[in-house]
Amino acid sequence: MPELPEVETVCRGLAPHLEGRVLVRVEQRRPNLRMPFPPNFEERLTGRRVESVRRRAKYILVQLDDGAVLIAHLGMSGRMTIAPERPESFGKHDHAVFETDAGTVVTFNDARRFGFMDLTSADALGDHAMLRSLGPEPLGNAFSGPVLAGRLAGKTTPIKAALLDQTIVAGLGNIYVAEALFQAGISPTRLASSVGGAEADRLATAIREVLGRAIEAGGSTLRDHRQASGELGYFQHQFAVYDREGEACPGCSCDVEKTGGVRRIVQSGRSTFYCAARQR
Ligand SMILES: [Zn+2]
Repeated sequence: MPELPEVETVCRGLAPHLEGRVLVRVEQRRPNLRMPFPPNFEERLTGRRVESVRRRAKYILVQLDDGAVLIAHLGMSGRMTIAPERPESFGKHDHAVFETDAGTVVTFNDARRFGFMDLTSADALGDHAMLRSLGPEPLGNAFSGPVLAGRLAGKTTPIKAALLDQTIVAGLGNIYVAEALFQAGISPTRLASSVGGAEADRLATAIREVLGRAIEAGGSTLRDHRQASGELGYFQHQFAVYDREGEACPGCSCDVEKTGGVRRIVQSGRSTFYCAARQR
């Protein structure tokens, strides 16, 4: 499933191909994804110039010259590909196609259809149902240790669940929550409200660093792969604890012989990976 760094990589990959370009042909190839496409989707986008491509949480925001904003979410399996020209034919799961005045063709493919696309205006963006409750952007200036501590205050859930709550901090998923808690040395089972002060500072820093490193890895993939497949957003990245049950944790002084290595527990129905020796 694409997480924040994958979505950021998609935005950075799309930007040079879309910004300043006119969408000369837009094709919606089925009526719905997770939700229906907005009415008159093709007509509302055709002929518009793209002003910017940016990200908010895990949403791709494409700003158009008439004040409209295209919101795209990749869901579980969505991907964007860039081709220098129109392919001979499209695949079964190619659901939306955007062709620019440079001849570039951006295709949105989503086999499982948990993604969606919607249109709103820049003025109404903050009120959009999917965006209005989002917490601060973890890589933005409004996010810090004290801000995080304030948002965790009074929360009686485990810290793992609190960090997945998009109203507390936006865009974090299962992988980067595990990685950030490991780096910060905080147990995923800790009561959220007990994480404050210097620990919240450490956690906020860890969140920014694990996301930053993953975005860097995505950036290098972008340079390597763009010509080959044109596909954006999925890349190999080394995780310290995520999906490494029983392995020694890198950079940790715990004794894997004694501890059994990285542990996996289930919280709210989802796997959590952590080091019981390092994370308290
Ligand atoms: Zn360890």
